[in-house]
Amino acid sequence: MVETTLHSISSVTSITHVTFTMIVALGIPWDANSSYLRGPALAPEKIREAYHSPSSNYFSESGLNTAQEGVWHDAGDVAFNSEIHFAEAISETVKKNVFAPNQLIAFGGDHSVTFPLLQAMFELHGPVNILHIDAHPDLYELFEDNQYSHASPFARILEKGFAKRLVQVGIRTLNAHQLQQARRFGVEVVEMKDWSSDLRWHFDGPMYLSLDMDAIDPAFAPGVSHHEPGGFTSRELISLLQNLKGKMVGADLVEYNPLRDINGVTAMLAAKLFKEMIGFLSRNPY
Ligand code: MN
Ligand code: MN
Repeated sequence: MVETTLHSISSVTSITHVTFTMIVALGIPWDANSSYLRGPALAPEKIREAYHSPSSNYFSESGLNTAQEGVWHDAGDVAFNSEIHFAEAISETVKKNVFAPNQLIAFGGDHSVTFPLLQAMFELHGPVNILHIDAHPDLYELFEDNQYSHASPFARILEKGFAKRLVQVGIRTLNAHQLQQARRFGVEVVEMKDWSSDLRWHFDGPMYLSLDMDAIDPAFAPGVSHHEPGGFTSRELISLLQNLKGKMVGADLVEYNPLRDINGVTAMLAAKLFKEMIGFLSRNPY
């Protein structure tokens, strides 16, 4: 009788498996594909500095202490030189540092870096669902004769078949050409004028988040190259991240331009979003 009881207790008291997914963060000091202003190459250093600033603490709003050992690992910055194409430098560095079940957070750089980041994600996971938050659709077939322009990464990603599905949010610069491109590739565009905090998305399969800092209103994030009024408040964007669900393989935080910042407010916002991304990826392993 005692034995049976013990047995039944042990059969229901299963070991709680803690899903332990180390997040690998990689700085990307690259801005040579910027069309208007340089500066995002300086972002990784400034975001690290703001993350460690004693003016705040390391907790994400979910209650996770992001400074706790094992939560994330700083893999340093991608090294660039004239011998190797920028895209290869990025995708190879990701593949050297990120192994399943690691999740990637890439930070810094202009938006051209998302193409090689997605190339690496594709090689690791196959086509992924992408949630792209930006003032701009970045779908130009060709911009100023540069196929790698920061205005074109999502055209390249779609041509290569790296995206299973692309949802764009926060868009407020949709011109005729990019509307045509969105239709051509079946992009789901949620323009800022149509956005509501009630919107939810369900993504089937691996998911990647690409966050361009200029999605946020320039009143909240002046440290970007392209000031496009009418964007998200900091709170709206943080809440959007907190309400997302999915099997996250990675995320990027791009287009922070320290040369345009005022008193480091955008650096602190980038560091805050970085902490929220860590919280969000930790809650959503794949
Ligand atoms: Mn962009
Ligand atoms: Mn943008």
